[in-house]
Amino acid sequence: MENEVHERVKDFLFGGNACFTLLQEGTGCKESVSVRYRIVQSKDNKNMYFVYTNPIGEKELKYHGYIFKGSFKKAKNLKFNPALYNEKAVIALQWLLVKGDNLPRIVHVLHDGKCSRCGRKLKDVESLRCGLGPECRKKVGRV
Ligand SMILES: [Zn+2]
Repeated sequence: MENEVHERVKDFLFGGNACFTLLQEGTGCKESVSVRYRIVQSKDNKNMYFVYTNPIGEKELKYHGYIFKGSFKKAKNLKFNPALYNEKAVIALQWLLVKGDNLPRIVHVLHDGKCSRCGRKLKDVESLRCGLGPECRKKVGRV
């Protein structure tokens, strides 16, 4: 699949400014599901990442909570109707963090063609395979 992160999925997710779609292909009578996310590293705390996804029924991504040292915490003050909190998207993300590179074949992490650390356009094949540019690949370590 085009723009799919094939390697170092966690490095991509924790690049600092990762924008991506999590796609689960449909099987049998199940429809395919895709969810958009943005995971942004805190400027004050390197171990903290803010998680944005779309509230239920909304297109714009909004702050849902943060990941601190690998585990997700729901935001205390949501800036949207709490009834629209996208629990499913959060659960899917937590699952993705656990699975990392060992995703089932029907699940895909799709980047937007931009480096998840610096946001520059990805050009070479290797960069496109992991969603990180050549320089940023060296700087991003496993979380
Ligand atoms: Zn980069």
